[in-house]
Amino acid sequence: MKNMTLENIAAACGGQIYYMREDLAQETAKGVVIDSRQIEPGYIFVATKGERVDGHRFIPDVFAKGALAVICEVLPEEDLGPCILVEDSFMALKQAAAFYRQQLNIRVVGITGSVGKTSTKEFIAAVLAEKYKVHKTAGNYNNEVGLPLTIFGIQDDDQIAVLEMGINTFGEMHRLSEVARPDICVMTNIGQCHLENLIDRDGILRAKSEIFDFMNPEGTVIVNGDDDKLATIHDVYGKAPITFGMNKDNAIWADHIENRGLLGSRADIHMGDVLVHANIPLPGEHMIYNAMAAAAVGVQFDMTKEEITAGISHVEAVAGRSHLIEAGDKVVIDDCYNANPVSMKAAIDLLATAPGRKVAILGDMFELGENERAMHREVGQYAAEKGIDLILCVGGLSSEMYEGAAEKGGEARHFEIREALEAVLQDLLQPGDTVLVKASHSMAFENIVQNIQENE
Ligand code: ATP
Ligand code: MG
Repeated sequence: MKNMTLENIAAACGGQIYYMREDLAQETAKGVVIDSRQIEPGYIFVATKGERVDGHRFIPDVFAKGALAVICEVLPEEDLGPCILVEDSFMALKQAAAFYRQQLNIRVVGITGSVGKTSTKEFIAAVLAEKYKVHKTAGNYNNEVGLPLTIFGIQDDDQIAVLEMGINTFGEMHRLSEVARPDICVMTNIGQCHLENLIDRDGILRAKSEIFDFMNPEGTVIVNGDDDKLATIHDVYGKAPITFGMNKDNAIWADHIENRGLLGSRADIHMGDVLVHANIPLPGEHMIYNAMAAAAVGVQFDMTKEEITAGISHVEAVAGRSHLIEAGDKVVIDDCYNANPVSMKAAIDLLATAPGRKVAILGDMFELGENERAMHREVGQYAAEKGIDLILCVGGLSSEMYEGAAEKGGEARHFEIREALEAVLQDLLQPGDTVLVKASHSMAFENIVQNIQENE
């Protein structure tokens, strides 16, 4: 890792080096991790105090495995190898990542927004990979721990890093931006997530806009211009952004949309004089937005329309995100990774396009703030209005969802806990059903997906 010597790292995180060995002074780290199981010779281990485990316990272990050094808050009593003593290991993780990012000759695309960050990241990375060597966030490693770890994974020959940046509260994006220093910022939308800390959509817009704090001043902002809040980003950012959306007023817009149901969609994406016939292999109209964002980024990186078209067609679904699973005579839309009102409705829209009987298994959505009950009710109403044939609501909050569905004439049932549904699920499903499975992550709905697969 370029310039990642112990001295430079210690300076970057304001730490003091103990137990130094002169022969290691010029040595650069080969990796930086917080999980002792991932240690390889030459790596640096950052000992963090987690909720359950204190990483300091593993210091002897990582040196035995050949760690170059450890960053820690408490020194081991004996000399096991070099240690950089810091006040706050999580802070040091960010500071070291910020330092490393600035050593690299790489351009960074930072992606934020309420919904669709991971999907958009996959589209952007798929497009850029047609021409460049790209490093992208693995899975959902988008927070103050995941982002630094993602940056440490950048290799010398990577040309572009595509980084997902997610937040819950004010100040966080400021810190993420300082670590990532994005050249290009992409914003997907401003929805109703994390209202507990951010209060309303204006709060969310302000919090996400902290991404500009450490952005390259010569850089480019790319936003969904159909989002009423993002359409005002000019006022916050100070320069005109590049916008994408269905509306023709956007710099990048789409028409001739052919909805191919669960197979995805086709659309013409217009970028000035350039027209891309896009084949978008992921289902749901929202994926067209994500493809447009990727096309916009591709243009910034001087890619041809052929490269952009190929990249869009090569994107793959991430497990747990609108992932289609054929389970015998049924199709499962596995979207159990997370849920909020915007993504619930998007997933219901998708289910509504399925042939045959449509079943929605919907669970509680957390972190919605004081209007959570009303939001659950609305999702239930929405599912019924969209013609979902059977709406199975699971969890305490979802009794509201059930009532919303029933009130709109939907066939619905409520189960207080997941296990109660699982006990009768087989009797409720029929051959040929398409089944959407979606809830907040902690509802553990992956068990339901597994249950359906195993009973086939
Ligand atoms: P998280 O906050 O968990 O990181 P995220 O912002 O990364 O979420 P995704 O994981 O990409 O979002 O998508 C979450 C859900 O929203 C999925 O159901 C997905 O199909 C749907 N979705 C994806 N893109 C969009 C979009 N542009 N607009 C609305 N919904 C979307
Ligand atoms: Mg994500």
